[in-house]
Amino acid sequence: MTKKITLAQGAGGELMDQLIKQNILRFFKKQGTAEVPLTALDDAAVIDDIVFSTDSHTVQPLIFPGGDIGSLAVCGTINDVAVVGGAPLALSAGFIIEEGFSLDIFQTIVKSMGHMANKANVPIVTGDTKVVEKGALQQFMINTSGIGKRSPALEKNIKEVKRHRKFNSRWLLDSNLTVGDTLILSGNIGEHGIALLSFREGYGFETTIHSDIAPLNGLMSALLAEGGIASAKDPTRGGLANTVNEFSEKSHVGLLLYEDAIPIPKGVQSACDMLGIDPLEIGNEGKVVLGVVKEKADDVLAVLKKHPLGKHAAIIGEATDKVSGVVLQTTVGGKRILRKPLGDPVPRIC
Ligand code: MG
Repeated sequence: MTKKITLAQGAGGELMDQLIKQNILRFFKKQGTAEVPLTALDDAAVIDDIVFSTDSHTVQPLIFPGGDIGSLAVCGTINDVAVVGGAPLALSAGFIIEEGFSLDIFQTIVKSMGHMANKANVPIVTGDTKVVEKGALQQFMINTSGIGKRSPALEKNIKEVKRHRKFNSRWLLDSNLTVGDTLILSGNIGEHGIALLSFREGYGFETTIHSDIAPLNGLMSALLAEGGIASAKDPTRGGLANTVNEFSEKSHVGLLLYEDAIPIPKGVQSACDMLGIDPLEIGNEGKVVLGVVKEKADDVLAVLKKHPLGKHAAIIGEATDKVSGVVLQTTVGGKRILRKPLGDPVPRIC
């Protein structure tokens, strides 16, 4: 029997991880002078001090409360460049359009991309447009790639980390955490996935929740100027659960998360309860999880709280040798292991 690729293998969890490791990485072993190579499976690669990332977007529905596939494609790539310590310079946009797709909707989406690129101050400078026969794909997909240079504040940030502990990375990688570091989440989680689901055919529940789509490059440079950040990652596909497990695996360190401190809006929690899904596994598009040296945690939190994208920021955990993997702890003392999601509770949201 021929093996076939399943939807779950594209969901950002454990199964996708296996697909990438077993079927992709082994054919791309030669990485030239890449300082952060493909095999790091980080948010972006780094080669000759250029930060480089790419992302394809296959959202259903294309337009939803708080955004659309266009604003998502722009922010998704900007954020992946920004969270490794890059200052995003420019983007590419590749469109694949199904024959018969509405020109009006196409224009609405492209306009939204332009608007978001202007807002983030990262121009779209190259692109490609293809149209495929009806039925070859569902409506419309966008690929964006982004390049960035080393963020001007990155040296200062690293200096600040080194004042408090050993640190030998030049970038904010998933593998940089060490025992004692503090985990900070920049705001509410779960909004993007729930906003999308509420608009999806067949779900149609009432909610006022909007997607959190936002470009994080401005926030990241403010945070780097404060300093003390060792790792940063945007909790997109697979949600916070996936992000913290990536941190733990790649840094070889246990993470203890304070369950009650994780900011989950009431509307997200009740929608999750109704749908039987875990808000920690839902993708977000305007959030960052930071690993910060503990001496700088309060200062970094203060910078977040002052920024419009960090109002609900919170300290959510710590790196420790007292647990292995990721453990959630409640204030009354209950503990449970938080695993990487296997697939995606809400498919096709990014
Ligand atoms: Mg990312």
